[in-house]
Formats: sequence, structure tokens, C-alpha cells
Amino acid sequence: MVIQFLKSLPVFTERIESLFFELFSGLPRQGPGDSKSTERALRSIPNLSSIARILDIGCGTGSQTFVIAESMEADIVAIDSHAPYINELNQTAHEMQLANQVVGFVGDMRQLEFPNGHFDLIWCEGAIYNVGVEVALRDWRRYLQEHGYIAFTEVCWKKPNPPKECRDFWEQEYPSIRDQNELVSVIESSGYVVLEHFELSQSAWWDEYYRPLQNNIDRFCEKYRDDSDAQELRKGCQHEIDTWHAYATFYGYEFFVIKIS
Ligand code: SAH
Repeated sequence: MVIQFLKSLPVFTERIESLFFELFSGLPRQGPGDSKSTERALRSIPNLSSIARILDIGCGTGSQTFVIAESMEADIVAIDSHAPYINELNQTAHEMQLANQVVGFVGDMRQLEFPNGHFDLIWCEGAIYNVGVEVALRDWRRYLQEHGYIAFTEVCWKKPNPPKECRDFWEQEYPSIRDQNELVSVIESSGYVVLEHFELSQSAWWDEYYRPLQNNIDRFCEKYRDDSDAQELRKGCQHEIDTWHAYATFYGYEFFVIKIS
């Protein structure tokens, strides 16, 4: 989330972007999630064995991609805008002897270039916020078969009236944050039906994502002790983690599995 805020700053530079990716390097995944939730979302899709082609958008280094690949035989195209993530994903595919099933490409989720109706299922964990749910559901639909599926995760309010500090954080990071009911309405009015939705566990945030990120932040803080750009960036990420520690009861990540109606 932090990159959204950083990019809106007038001082955003390539150097800050490269520091950002250094801070996020070597992590098991690049957003909240875990293999249990990926598997649960997969299980909610009927006739999984009839799914032949999957597009994994904003795949990062492929944490979810390989869970999907090991659960079924479908071909998976994985795309991400950050080339080093795609290199790592393709390397992992090679090492796991899955290179004939999983192929990563550098690409922009705003400008996908695939034939219409090419995929049975679009997967997007922790990344749909980059375009926004409404735009994604409208623009990605054309790449799906007639009754194709989309599985995605999105941050949601879990209860009303969050404290001001929490509200201010999300107002700055992602003002489109909504509650589950509003998201279900958006999904339905975009021409899809919800097959299943469930919340990611606290461990999907902490064990899988924030704890490794916190270790990176601590090392990064030490390495760039006298670097003001790096320290600003570090503080932004730390603020995101601290906000979660303080207010995780107010917001969460919801997994949605939906189908074209
Ligand atoms: N799905 C992965 C990564 C989530 S982080 C996981 O759950 O671990 C969000 C990912 O979206 C990052 O890898 C980032 O590089 C990618 N991303 C951001 N903007 C993008 C865009 N316009 N097109 C494609 N990928 C994008």
C-alpha cells in the first residue's frame, strides 16, 4: 500500500522506488495471504478440473501461483509490473519443474493484451487495489470465458467507526476501502455472483507478511541510518505495520471468489 502514497509525493524518484524494492526484497510474499486461504478459495470453484487456463495478475514472486500450480493441472500465466519478481517467479518455476505449467511475464494490469475469452479463471491476491475493484471487474471480464471466475483479495472495514488515527491512515493510503457489504454490491452490480468470501487470518498478515517485512525494516533502518529518503520510506512502512497492530480489529483482507453471472 505504501507505494501508492509514495508515488503521489512530488519528491518521488527512481531512487526511492529502488529503495522501496530493496526494502521489500527477499520476502516470502508481497502482501497478506497464505496457502491455506489460496487453497480454500480454489476449493470454492466448482468443476476445478475443467479449468484449463489461469491468469494470475500482480503475482509478485508467485507465492499463490505455486500453490495453485501444485493443486491443479491448468496452465498459469502470471504477470507483474516489477521485472525482478517475474525473474524470481520463472526461476522458481524452473527449480520446481513447473516451467511447462507456469510462465511469468512483465506486464501492466491496466493494459493487458490477451485474446478475448482466453482464461477460465483470473487470480489476483493483494494487488487489485492498484486499479480498483470496479475497473478490474469491468476491464478484465473480456479475457474470461463466458462463465469465468475471478478470485481476489481486497482490504475491507470489519466494523464501523474506526478510531480517527486508523481512519486517517486509510484515507491517505487507500480511500476506496469499504466494508464487505458494499463490496458485494459492487461485485453484483458489475455483473458477477459471489460464490464464496472469507476473511484472511491474522497469521496471513503477520507470519506470512508483516513479520518478515519487519525484519527487513529493522535491517534497512540500520543500513541507511543517515539516509533521509530511506528513513522516510522506512517510517511509512513501519506506520503501516504499527497501524495494523493497533487497529487490526477494524479492518481485514477479504478473499472473494466470484463468477460472471
Ligand atoms: N500476489 C502477490 C503480490 C501482491 S503485492 C502476493 O500476494 O504475494 C502487489 C503486486 O502488484 C506487486 O508485486 C506489484 O509489483 C504488482 N503491481 C503493482 N502495480 C501493478 C501493475 N500496474 N501491473 C501489474 N502488477 C502490478
